[in-house]
Amino acid sequence: MKAVILSCEKIRDNVRVGCLKCFKAIYNKTGNFSEGDIRIIAWTSCGGCPGFPIARLKLIKEMLESEGESFDTVFLAGCILMAEKNFCPMDIDELEKKITENFNVRVIRGTHP
Ligand code: SF4
Repeated sequence: MKAVILSCEKIRDNVRVGCLKCFKAIYNKTGNFSEGDIRIIAWTSCGGCPGFPIARLKLIKEMLESEGESFDTVFLAGCILMAEKNFCPMDIDELEKKITENFNVRVIRGTHP
């Protein structure tokens, strides 16, 4: 599995300190990183409210293709799920549908335990 992690621009830490839980789960193969062989090939955010995740993922796809790479899975990071429950203007069901339609990839909700 070659995966992109999509995170909430507001909640994630720009120096990635706040993303330690995701990195720990990747390293320890826990949470939704427990199945199979997962390579995290890119890490991006929605770009900030009101959310531009499809545009961001299109850019990631273009950049990966220019390097001869691709992705087959998108993780919606725990911070996006947390944001959705509180203040996020994005509809996560709709986001999952759009990602699947635009990129023909698997979407997994959540990352670390
Ligand atoms: S609240 Fe939603 S739209 Fe706003 S930055 Fe976070 S994930 Fe993106």
